[in-house]
Amino acid sequence: MIIHLASGNRHKVEEMQRLADATPATRALGLHVRPAKMPPVEEDTGTFVGNARKKAVALQATLPADAWVLADDSGVCVDALGGAPGVESAYFAGPQGDAAANLRKLAEVMREVPDGERAARFVCVLLLRGPGGVEQVFEGRCEGVLGREPRGGKGFGYDPLFIPEGHTCTYAELTEDEKNALSHRGRAWVQLAAWLAQAWRV
Ligand code: IMP
Repeated sequence: MIIHLASGNRHKVEEMQRLADATPATRALGLHVRPAKMPPVEEDTGTFVGNARKKAVALQATLPADAWVLADDSGVCVDALGGAPGVESAYFAGPQGDAAANLRKLAEVMREVPDGERAARFVCVLLLRGPGGVEQVFEGRCEGVLGREPRGGKGFGYDPLFIPEGHTCTYAELTEDEKNALSHRGRAWVQLAAWLAQAWRV
């Protein structure tokens, strides 16, 4: 089975395929996560679900009617910043979507925030659309805190600042499989896989 991923983000595509291969239900389906040539979409709805739906609908319009499309919208929500950057995570440092600049800016704005007030969570919405108007939404969260300095060379985006609950290392210091086992995206994927297994009768 092929799912067309409404994202040009190489890291997301790789993480999703790894999740598909590691999760029994999606492995049994032989699920292939195919990166898409995305038409331009303005992520302006103010919600993860709304943005994911816009991306999924835009991609679906470019594909045959029997295609299955998956859109991911995700971000990091920081309590001390009133939930920012949240849905704006990709554009925190400006419209060019520069991941290194976003990371630097988050470290900088959090510099004076004391320990104990550095709680944050990653949120991931996976929105699946299929033939005949089928739409399913799955949400995964991972609670944690923000470190003071970026640490670790793996992953992408804000990974080097985010320390998941119960850990001392950052997302960027975990192996891909370790990150997937606890991440916002991994948790949303488990729900998606369970739905697919039932809907596609694995
Ligand atoms: P989206 O592509 O509009 O969903 O933007 C998501 C943004 O949130 C990315 O550009 C990253 O900045 C951030 N983000 C989402 N998931 C992760 C993750 O797993 N690690 C680090 N940053 C992430």
